[in-house]
Amino acid sequence: MSTSSLSQDRDPAMPVPKLKREAIHSVVAAVAPFQSAAGSGLAGRVIYIDQTHDIVLAPKEVVLTFDDGPVPKNTPSILDTLDAFGVKATFFMVGEMARSHAAIGADVARRGHTIGTHSYSHPNLAQLSTAAAQNEIDKGVAAVTSATGQEPHFFRFPYLSESGRLDQMIAARGLIPVGVDIDSIDYRPASSQVLINRVMAGLAKHGGGIILMHDLQTRTAHFLPGLLTELQAGGYKVVQLRYGTPPQRQKPDHATPETPTLVQLLRGDGPQ
Ligand SMILES: [Zn+2]
Repeated sequence: MSTSSLSQDRDPAMPVPKLKREAIHSVVAAVAPFQSAAGSGLAGRVIYIDQTHDIVLAPKEVVLTFDDGPVPKNTPSILDTLDAFGVKATFFMVGEMARSHAAIGADVARRGHTIGTHSYSHPNLAQLSTAAAQNEIDKGVAAVTSATGQEPHFFRFPYLSESGRLDQMIAARGLIPVGVDIDSIDYRPASSQVLINRVMAGLAKHGGGIILMHDLQTRTAHFLPGLLTELQAGGYKVVQLRYGTPPQRQKPDHATPETPTLVQLLRGDGPQ
């Protein structure tokens, strides 16, 4: 399947997480709750993702992702912008970039962003032999771990080029492939306003989702403040991906008394 295909054929009312082997995209589901603590700011909730949990976003929730860094020219500026807006992103680092700019990679982690990996030298993995592809993935993980002090759990395929063979390789390493819902196309020349409009139009169509950007690109460092300003004005929330099992589900406001608690179930005195 194309990793850039959107979920237009998916029932938007279906929030059920499912085990997916291909790169995960977001499911924008009307019933996913906002974190009650979310205020009028841009920062939204943290969502925990593991091998069996899809990314289920509420309408107007977005995930910011930056690929191909870290680079001295742009990554620090992007980090400052994210701090200024109080939001967290996921950085899919290229191993050799993390190795060359380890202090910046470490700063990304220190500032609380989520660390992902994106191979060691950014080849099209689908065109490599199995051994070479495995080496690229493993070297990338090792370099990013060494630079950031964190083991990455999320992976993005270079060029979004994946295959069944690669998906199995990623899954065997416990990595979670993350897809893209809205491509900013920031690797091609465009004004900040064109880039912002493109992302906002994509979000309006998709309802929310995972946004692809590149901290390698100077234009991305330049358009990010304007994008975050527009997201905030539009009532969007930036949610952070974290690896792990979701904490116990928050009790919904409309929880009915007949919903048995775990203790009731164990005691056998819950509603029959
Ligand atoms: Zn890339």
